[in-house]
Amino acid sequence: MRIALIAHDKKKDELKSFVAHHVDFFKAHDLYATGTTGSILIEHTGLKISLKKSGPLGGDQEIGSMIANGKIDMIFFFRDPLTAQPHEPDVSALFRLSDVYKIPLATNIETAKHFLNSEKNKAQ
Ligand code: PGA
Repeated sequence: MRIALIAHDKKKDELKSFVAHHVDFFKAHDLYATGTTGSILIEHTGLKISLKKSGPLGGDQEIGSMIANGKIDMIFFFRDPLTAQPHEPDVSALFRLSDVYKIPLATNIETAKHFLNSEKNKAQ
């Protein structure tokens, strides 16, 4: 699978711990991430991740473009619902495209756990 990994600043630690905890799952897939999130994940987990620009500088739109072109199969975007984001229109556009193309999108850790359980069950 081709998986996108993104987290708003206050959710980066949570995504980092989640990915590190499930590193065996993630290393079996092609990973893409926005710049800052991806750099943190690479440093912390050693995973191979293709980096896009930082989210506020167009990275969310780059991932959106991949979605529109059929190049993303699953998205983990841990969003911060309590902090205004300067690039909210880009975030909304990414979420919208995930619905247009029916790509599974986990916006918080509990949904993310369900996605992983579902994938692990499929693999058995
Ligand atoms: P970042 O972007 O990984 O470069 O911080 C994430 C975001 O969309 O806020």
